[in-house]
Amino acid sequence: MVALQDLRNLNKAEIAAVCAELGWPRFRGKQVFSWVHEKGASSIDEMTNLSKEQRQILAAHYEIAPLVLLDTWCGDAGDTIKFLWQLPDGNTVEQVLMFYKDRVSTCVSTQTGCAMGCKFCATALCGKGRNLTAGEIVGQILLANGWCQKQGKPIITNVVYMGMGEPLANWPHVKKSLQILNDEEGLNIGWRRMTISTCGLADKIKQLAEEDFQLELSVSLHSADDKIRSALMPINERYPLSDLMAACDIFTEKTGRRITYEYAMFHEVNDSKKAAEDLARLLKGRLAFVNLIPANPVAEAGFFPAKSERIKEFVEILEGHHIAVAVRKSRGQDIEAACGQLKRRNHKKTQNQEINQTGKKES
Ligand code: SAH
Repeated sequence: MVALQDLRNLNKAEIAAVCAELGWPRFRGKQVFSWVHEKGASSIDEMTNLSKEQRQILAAHYEIAPLVLLDTWCGDAGDTIKFLWQLPDGNTVEQVLMFYKDRVSTCVSTQTGCAMGCKFCATALCGKGRNLTAGEIVGQILLANGWCQKQGKPIITNVVYMGMGEPLANWPHVKKSLQILNDEEGLNIGWRRMTISTCGLADKIKQLAEEDFQLELSVSLHSADDKIRSALMPINERYPLSDLMAACDIFTEKTGRRITYEYAMFHEVNDSKKAAEDLARLLKGRLAFVNLIPANPVAEAGFFPAKSERIKEFVEILEGHHIAVAVRKSRGQDIEAACGQLKRRNHKKTQNQEINQTGKKES
């Protein structure tokens, strides 16, 4: 049997080429693209403006690979929803949806685990994982939109690549997914409504600067001191702060865009006055915005959130140095929205079920 190709993984030109190959007129390509990437069809059978025979011809070589919604968690305030998706090969990934007054933002996964090994991150505990395809990335957004429509909620306006995985370590698929999401005959999500977040792959940041994308870039900094940062994020050994900031400077020079620096505040790790002074010194004169995040506790990793007085003090020091800063309201802590936490919880749940079943069998 021939392996079927996932239509979600194809961009407009590729879908047009598939239809041209079949000898179909050009408008068919547009129709198929719209079914897949605008309407979010989950099967070729839904493409009702194609004849039954045409659908059969297409289905001989193509499919729309299923993402199965295994679980959802809703935050207490009802404005944050977390999804756990199962991919066709059985792997699982998380996605978060956040409803604001003026926008609906989603945090999507790009890998099924992460090789970067950040010490405070639950995804790192899931292991290396594999890259998602562009179709699996785009699929999260299309299917979440379908869920929103069914619930009578507004659909996604903003996409942040801040779920499980390191987007710049999966750049070819991430890039393709961005282009598909941006396509005006698809979901037409503007570049400025899409954000890539990276742990600091300096070479890839330089590469990104060469692309003609008006994307938002977030850099997970978490410390302005090489020693502390290396202890938190092993990637800092490969790309220390001097390399990282040089790459960030190239990015701002080329794009004229301000970079957001994510700074999760961990109790007694990176929340001191000195840490704030170091950060102010590092960012002085740079086009920068600091997002302070009260850390999500990941008990297994031994990291705890900074106290609110420390966060206040930190903000005051940064503002004293005229560094733009905001404290991100941490959403979804009650549903363990930190990356990888839901997947781990589900994994544990499944393990416990297995243990219970074995227990029953034995008794
Ligand atoms: N690999 C990318 C994107 C995924 S992580 C990156 O590193 O940016 C998304 C964000 O969540 C990153 O800023 C990451 O550092 C942060 N994060 C991970 N675990 C966290 C935790 N326990 N508390 C607060 N932020 C966390």
